[in-house]
Amino acid sequence: MIVVMKKEATPADVNHMVQRIESLGLKAHVIVGTERTVIAAVGDDRKTHKESLESGPGVAEVMPILAPYKRASLELKPEPTQIKAGSLTVGAGTIGVIAGPCSVESEEQILQCARAVKKAGATALRGGAFKPRTSPYSFQGMKEDGLKLLAAARDATGLAVVTEVVASEDVPLVAKYADVLQIGARNMQNYRLLEAVGATDRPVLLKRGPSATIDELLLAAEYILNGGNPNVMLCERGIRTFETHTRFTLPLATVVYLHAKTHLPVVVDPSHGTGHTYLVPQMAAASVAAGADGLILEVHPDPERAMSDGYQSLNFEQFAATMEMCRKVAGALGQKM
Ligand code: PEP
Ligand code: MN
Repeated sequence: MIVVMKKEATPADVNHMVQRIESLGLKAHVIVGTERTVIAAVGDDRKTHKESLESGPGVAEVMPILAPYKRASLELKPEPTQIKAGSLTVGAGTIGVIAGPCSVESEEQILQCARAVKKAGATALRGGAFKPRTSPYSFQGMKEDGLKLLAAARDATGLAVVTEVVASEDVPLVAKYADVLQIGARNMQNYRLLEAVGATDRPVLLKRGPSATIDELLLAAEYILNGGNPNVMLCERGIRTFETHTRFTLPLATVVYLHAKTHLPVVVDPSHGTGHTYLVPQMAAASVAAGADGLILEVHPDPERAMSDGYQSLNFEQFAATMEMCRKVAGALGQKM
């Protein structure tokens, strides 16, 4: 951390700050410049709130040097993390494709979907059984019955199951059926839930909150990693901006940025990220071009009649065509898909 003193700071202010810094367990080095004095506070400053130093006498500004996250950082683990969950491999040169409906609706729907996405090359099946819906009047999911249908679809196709858990008390139930636990965008900062999935042995797909910064996403991942679960996939699913042409704004620079900061694999969700079926294929291919380690795509046998998110779901042919396009991009970049 660098503490920049004000022009008018007195030697007593500087001494005071040196003592404050050392009382926090950091080493203080005073650098007297021609215009300003700065104090370098050396040591692991992640536990120190920059605000607590900023209110000191004569302090102009406090600048942290270290990223606020630790276990997720490339400094701690320079090689990319690869995550395996049954048929699904994500990261370190392998692109995983998680596809399926927004919600599990019936046995026929999920089985048909699982078979179709597998045939087109998906490596895992998605489907929500517990749905976090904006309106309490919308379909809330089939709950445990839905989980049973997902498990049956896994038995029939061999595809790993990715499904959302919305409450910490449901974690044991969902973990009984799921291969990967999805933390939805609305729950990215539900810290008790993050701790609960951190205590399981199931890989986690952590979605970015629509208003969360990338540091907040990485700190949310840090909760899961700190709990002893090393298998976290980060998911960019679009953020809320002033733009209304798309449901959310899908920033693909996130993928490149995260790869420069973390060893954790990065999955992109162009379905929620755009909110329109016709935008999904190209944005999926663009995600692969940006270096995504995985895609999560909503696919429905009859999107027009879907109980949730039909307007952004691909039908089977559209999904197969999307896979074709993504494979070409992946091939050109030397990635396995
Ligand atoms: C979903 O995957 O269907 C979902 C609800 O996603 P998100 O949490 O990103 O909105
Ligand atoms: Mn959805």
